[in-house]
Amino acid sequence: MQNNRNYTRLFWALLITFLAIFLISPIALDMLWARPGGGHSFSGGGGSGGSGGGDIGALIYLLMELPPEISIPVIIAIIAFKIIQNRRRNSTRAVTSSPTVQNRVVRNNQLENNLDYLIQQDPNFSKVVFLDFAASLFHKYYTWFGKPEFRFIAPFFSPKETQLSENQKNTNQTNSEIVIGAINVTDIVRSHGYDRITLEIDANYTNTHNGKASRFTVYERWQFLRKSGLISPAPERMRSVACPNCGAVSSFTDNADCSACGTHLTAGEQQWYVSQTAVLDRKAFSVAGLGHYAQERGTDYPTVYQTGLQNTQTRFAQRAGIDSQLWKSDFLQTVVNVYFMKIYAAWSINRLLSVRNLLSDRLYESFEFWINSYKQAGLVNKLEQIKISDIQIVKVEPDNLYDSVTVRIFASALDYVSDSQGNIKGGSNRKARVFSEYWTFIRRAGVKKQNFDTATCPSCGAPADNIGQAGECGYCGNKISNGEFSWVLAIIAQDEVYGG
Ligand SMILES: [Zn+2]
Ligand SMILES: [Zn+2]
Repeated sequence: MQNNRNYTRLFWALLITFLAIFLISPIALDMLWARPGGGHSFSGGGGSGGSGGGDIGALIYLLMELPPEISIPVIIAIIAFKIIQNRRRNSTRAVTSSPTVQNRVVRNNQLENNLDYLIQQDPNFSKVVFLDFAASLFHKYYTWFGKPEFRFIAPFFSPKETQLSENQKNTNQTNSEIVIGAINVTDIVRSHGYDRITLEIDANYTNTHNGKASRFTVYERWQFLRKSGLISPAPERMRSVACPNCGAVSSFTDNADCSACGTHLTAGEQQWYVSQTAVLDRKAFSVAGLGHYAQERGTDYPTVYQTGLQNTQTRFAQRAGIDSQLWKSDFLQTVVNVYFMKIYAAWSINRLLSVRNLLSDRLYESFEFWINSYKQAGLVNKLEQIKISDIQIVKVEPDNLYDSVTVRIFASALDYVSDSQGNIKGGSNRKARVFSEYWTFIRRAGVKKQNFDTATCPSCGAPADNIGQAGECGYCGNKISNGEFSWVLAIIAQDEVYGG
């Protein structure tokens, strides 16, 4: 009888442990990829997945002590609760991170049409420049939130945000080291006399509260509004958060008057303003999860092509005065292939500055953040024997200011994380990991030169060995990281989240 009781207990203990691992622990949901720009979104480190172990142990012990007629209903209740909770969590994630391929195609078509319409109304509108504006605003928002300097950007926000910032005054908090990992347009709508653009932003920052610093990752949705019929200011006035009339930066008074030219700014009347911000996800960031590798997802997903790809390709080639087919093969060979190999090689040996001329500012900052995180954890992410198996052009977006080309790259590499002694902490240095990624390159419209030597400055031709952190050539002083003179890589999106 005693034996039977022990077996029953053992059975329950195993069952509960099994269920606890699969239903209670969020480990399976929190995944981390290595590789630059690699789906680190939502990660926040594996640290968050490890908690709760002690609670589970105590729960199992407690349940084993109870008679089965009580413990069984309790277990059923816990399982039911957890299933509902997981479903909820998965469904919210599905909306923000991985819509089905079908949904993506439909959403893509809509986005493209609405973007075309916006450009027809406002020929100065460029998605590339708008994203720079939004990123700059995001950066300043976090830096100045709760500070008197918030007034410099207050005319670009709804009164509610200014109030929130006011409320945070005197709480002794400072945000710094703000890094934007990804920023995507998810919606463009025209309604009730307003243009509206919705963005999703994946970022991280350090919050210092009463001297104690903590790092957070956030996933946010920002909504921008502007009166319909407005024409965007010239890119140099648009790119950074400046007075749309005179271009002065950080010049606004408490009354939203530009102290340089006197223009009074009314939200949405002359320029975009942020009508809503929402934090969809926020987690403490920990380097503890940097060695974890999740199963590669999305490599077999069908490629998401732009609907009017043929047309946009032709339009682009005509504008550049080149043959469409010739351009394509040339671009894949001399730009995509070369950039991919060079950037991954530089990432692998922690020498990002050596490819500074090939990266946009945001991407460079994001790479730098991840490399520093690895360093901080005493780790390095190695990528060896990199091979490209296929490259497909999926999107060509020539607007009046920028050319933007997105490709899907299929590749494989030995991808692993090791410590300073060379011990493998994650991934494999024997078995190649097969993956695919969407890379978006941008370049100022009107640049004709297709080929350039990636080892030289595209502006002055001097060796590209003296490019500073800010993307300026040390010889000619020109900024080359904004695509003014040649292609720069602006975005890397993982195949399971690429939304077109
Ligand atoms: Zn002004
Ligand atoms: Zn130069």
